[in-house]
Amino acid sequence: MRTLAVILGDHLNEDSAAFDGFDPRQDAVWMAEATDESQHVPSHKARTVLFLSAMRHFRDRLRARGLTVIYQELQPGSLAGLLQRDIEQYAPERVICVWPGDFRLKEALSPQVHQFLEDRHFLSTPDDFRRHAEGRKQLRLEYFYREMRRRYRILMEGDQPEGGAWNFDADNREPLPAAGPGKMPPPLRFPPDATTQAVMADVEQQLPGNPGSLASFSWPVTREQALEALQDFVTHRLPLFGRYQDAMWTAEPFLYHSLISSSLNLKLLDPREVLAAVEQAPAPLAAREGFIRQILGWREYVRGLYWLKMPGYAELNALDAQAALPRFYWTGDTEMACLRDAIGQTLEHGYAHHIQRLMVTGLYAMLLGVAPRAIHEWYLAVYVDAVEWVELPNVIGMSQFADGGIMASKPYAASGKYIDRMSNHCGGCRFDPAQSTGPRACPFTTLYWDFLMRHEQTLRKVPRMDMQLRNLVRLKPEQKKAIAEQAADIIRTGCPTTSSSAPAAASAPLWSNV
Ligand code: FAD
Ligand code: SF4
Repeated sequence: MRTLAVILGDHLNEDSAAFDGFDPRQDAVWMAEATDESQHVPSHKARTVLFLSAMRHFRDRLRARGLTVIYQELQPGSLAGLLQRDIEQYAPERVICVWPGDFRLKEALSPQVHQFLEDRHFLSTPDDFRRHAEGRKQLRLEYFYREMRRRYRILMEGDQPEGGAWNFDADNREPLPAAGPGKMPPPLRFPPDATTQAVMADVEQQLPGNPGSLASFSWPVTREQALEALQDFVTHRLPLFGRYQDAMWTAEPFLYHSLISSSLNLKLLDPREVLAAVEQAPAPLAAREGFIRQILGWREYVRGLYWLKMPGYAELNALDAQAALPRFYWTGDTEMACLRDAIGQTLEHGYAHHIQRLMVTGLYAMLLGVAPRAIHEWYLAVYVDAVEWVELPNVIGMSQFADGGIMASKPYAASGKYIDRMSNHCGGCRFDPAQSTGPRACPFTTLYWDFLMRHEQTLRKVPRMDMQLRNLVRLKPEQKKAIAEQAADIIRTGCPTTSSSAPAAASAPLWSNV
């Protein structure tokens, strides 16, 4: 055998560099399903099923084209271990692999892989980002995004942005009307076919203790399905995407979001085709720009940052947060309606939209002072789109401010009033977002003020925190004392103590390796 091309579960694109010069007479593809990949963090069953089903479909597609695919179905061990075994058996002259999406995996495979190849799926390379970062005191999405708009000539009129502005946030990000979203066209579903059902059986058998449900599994597992999902979004949800991109609504897990992150991250979709479909769609400019910013801006930006800052980035803890992750993150069993909703849908679908991740689960963890590694491992475990290059910067940088401001110019700190403004959750909650102390005080609001007090010295150095800190000065000393006492109770137990939440159980991790 001449070349063994290692295809990882998030590299399912036939035009990847792994197939350059591939000669079916002397080269082979190698793919494997190793249980370690679902156990180093206890991966949601839907995440594992999605990856493995998409891999098996991809394998079958390559074999139908006449390629030799050496494929190990789900078995105990690590990817590197399984690869070593097959290298010994097939003795290839060289082993190649497209750059993995995870620093850990790249390190683990390095002894066996002779060459890591550029991942052409992305619109910018780690070197492009390094050049962008060189000599800049601060990294900010906005400058990178404008460079990308100019470079790819997307939403541009000559050298100027279409519509005369680079962003239309003022037209976007509204709450839903009081009556709610009304009857929404449900996103396209892809019920499990025979291949997916076989994977489900394997996962239930070999990873029975992993979190999450498979009952609602309907994610795209092939390129054709991913393209249908993209078209469904562009036709039905894009026009209102921008306006309601930050809104939340009880028992409406998807609203106007695209649900394409997992297809993009597995490389079933190419970002170029997504950008083209959205740029040309008959939708308002504000919606198209709001969406394009996510793909051409944020998605590329966080990847650049990941490879620029790893491995140290995963260890950052600028706010010295040390608390355990509350146990209810694994069950959704909490009286806080917003968290119950966001975690509930996460366990059901492996999905929550951006604001639920940032301003509900992420915000609560930051205000509580959860150790960044613990919350990072939770996000990596529970979302179907989770791959470390995109998950880690969003958690460590954007949601926890654990990088001290490398990624975001200020912590996304807010009280329960933000959630009240952007959702209908508080109306159905036993807490009151306007109260910071007392039995009905919203834990977000109590912890928000306490967070500002606890970190006042650090936050004074963050220019964009001025206004929030000015409000802190208005609190009387006795109010501050009462807030600090109530917050200390919440921090000790992980949640407001009620008859149903015994303190020790509330913060004990459910999974021993988290
Ligand atoms: P939409 O809301 O429809 O957005 C469109 C697309 O833009 C997404 O599919 C995604 O590809 C891209 N995008 C949007 N925001 C971001 C962002 N901040 N960073 C990178 N890409 C973005 N995204 C992941 O793909 N995997 C993760 O593991 C992940 N973890 C996150 C953890 C936290 C704490 C936060 C705050 C965000 C995280 N995100 C992650 C980003 C974002 O929340 C998801 O991409 C989005 O919710 C996926 O749903 P969607 O496809 O319906 O996205
Ligand atoms: Fe969440 Fe507080 Fe609103 Fe309850 S009152 S839903 S805990 S923000």
